[in-house]
Amino acid sequence: MFRSPIKHCRNCGSAVTYRVPDDGDTRERAVCPACDTIHYENPLNVVGTVPYWGDKVLLCKRNIEPRWGKWTLPAGFMELGETTEQGAARETDEEAGAKIEMEGLLTVMSVPRVGQVHLYYRARLQSDVFDPGHETIEARLFSQEEIPWEEIAFRTVRETLELYFADRAAGRFSVHNVVIV
Ligand code: ZN
Repeated sequence: MFRSPIKHCRNCGSAVTYRVPDDGDTRERAVCPACDTIHYENPLNVVGTVPYWGDKVLLCKRNIEPRWGKWTLPAGFMELGETTEQGAARETDEEAGAKIEMEGLLTVMSVPRVGQVHLYYRARLQSDVFDPGHETIEARLFSQEEIPWEEIAFRTVRETLELYFADRAAGRFSVHNVVIV
């Protein structure tokens, strides 16, 4: 898991214990022995885009760990108070400084091993001039033939790119439900 287990109660700060609560629950939870608060941990959403300019897509070279120096699509953790599309657009702006027009949902990817759900939207670039943020070494456009497939940071990104190009070749885009095992 990317997230470390809860050690202390969010309510009172006491050390928690992991056990199945007495309320008919079936999973172990971090339960506070002092104030009885039960901490529920649920998957996080990662939201991103496939920004395209003509027949090219925008990739970002990561300036952060994990996978420093590898290429990725702009994506990141959704924030409270925003929609999936707002989060995807925000990440695209933060990581690539790219101006986009959001289009349809392309992939919904469950990654149960790390407790995440990734959602990628197609996004039409408004310009081919980018202003990447500190998390990105370089943002540039790649045609399908130019994609550095061996240097892609994450399997979710590789599969999203493959589905994007397959849909584009087929002449119609749809939503793909994918499980990353
Ligand atoms: Zn407590």
